[in-house]
Amino acid sequence: MGAYQHILLAVDYSEHSAAFARRAKDLAEKYQAKLSIIHVLDNIPMPDTGYGTVISLNEDSGYDLLEAEKTRLMQIGDRLGVARADCWMVWGVPNQEIVQLAEQERIDLIIVGSHGRHGLSLLLGSTANSVLHYAGCDVMAIRLPND
Ligand code: AMP
Repeated sequence: MGAYQHILLAVDYSEHSAAFARRAKDLAEKYQAKLSIIHVLDNIPMPDTGYGTVISLNEDSGYDLLEAEKTRLMQIGDRLGVARADCWMVWGVPNQEIVQLAEQERIDLIIVGSHGRHGLSLLLGSTANSVLHYAGCDVMAIRLPND
């Protein structure tokens, strides 16, 4: 099995994102792999404009909520040394968009956070579980502390 060449980090801006983002950067350095990041917009309404589902970080949308989301992603990208072109912001359902981008960009390792789950949320599943299920490449789940 060869070394990883392209790693995709999925970020949801939750409290523990910074810690597992560092883990992704360490791994990318260890394998001398390219690192890309994705944030899926599933919590703000999509405006009725000509935008497609992939959002360019280089253009001003004039939509405040979207600009705030972009700024956060760019800050994470800058901290990790990820080029703008490798910071992906996409509208959709997180697990589906993560898996689809991984195929499109020939990712060989996806890194997601994972909360220990109990009860109903265990039955409903999680983004990490779903990505693991559908991805065609390796998936690393970083265990996040339960709040
Ligand atoms: P969840 O199981 O939904 O709490 O999310 C667990 C992990 O899935 C997060 O730590 C992220 O790695 C990834 N994830 C969840 N939501 C998103 C999102 N909107 N965009 C990108 N990654 C996400």
